[in-house]
Amino acid sequence: MRKVAFLDRDGVINHDPGDYTCSLQEFTILPGVIETLKKWTSEGYGIVVITNQGGIAKGRYSLEDFLEIDRYMRSAFIDAGIDYIETYFCPHHEVSSRCLCRKPGSAMIEKAVARHAVDIEASFMVGDKMRDLQAAAAVGIRGLKIDVNQDLRSLRLPFLKA
Ligand SMILES: [Mg+2]
Ligand SMILES: [Zn+2]
Repeated sequence: MRKVAFLDRDGVINHDPGDYTCSLQEFTILPGVIETLKKWTSEGYGIVVITNQGGIAKGRYSLEDFLEIDRYMRSAFIDAGIDYIETYFCPHHEVSSRCLCRKPGSAMIEKAVARHAVDIEASFMVGDKMRDLQAAAAVGIRGLKIDVNQDLRSLRLPFLKA
């Protein structure tokens, strides 16, 4: 069993300008993210990203655009020594199809929990929208709501030792 810090992407990891992040050029990791994820890594947490990417279904950007951003993010995390595990994304949107993965649906988190033997009680989810927390709550994982683009260094996690 392993402890996991689940993170939404847009507005939590990277700056959310209030519209989709369509390309790597528009992807900027927020101040404090790398430092915070390194700290959580040192506390024994693996990092899993759980992100709705409905812009793919809407044709705002392609799957490859998303994957390019994801490769960049993953490299940035791994280069910093962060225990990054995996990204789960939902490419769907209600405009074209219904799915179970789009948050507040919990299918992405359920998949991660099963695949990585996640310790539900010891894990948490950070998101800037209620639907992030709803997805986590459906699986029994505690959620921490932040403001969009909030500096993660300002978070106080009572269940963390440090
Ligand atoms: Mg978000
Ligand atoms: Zn989906």
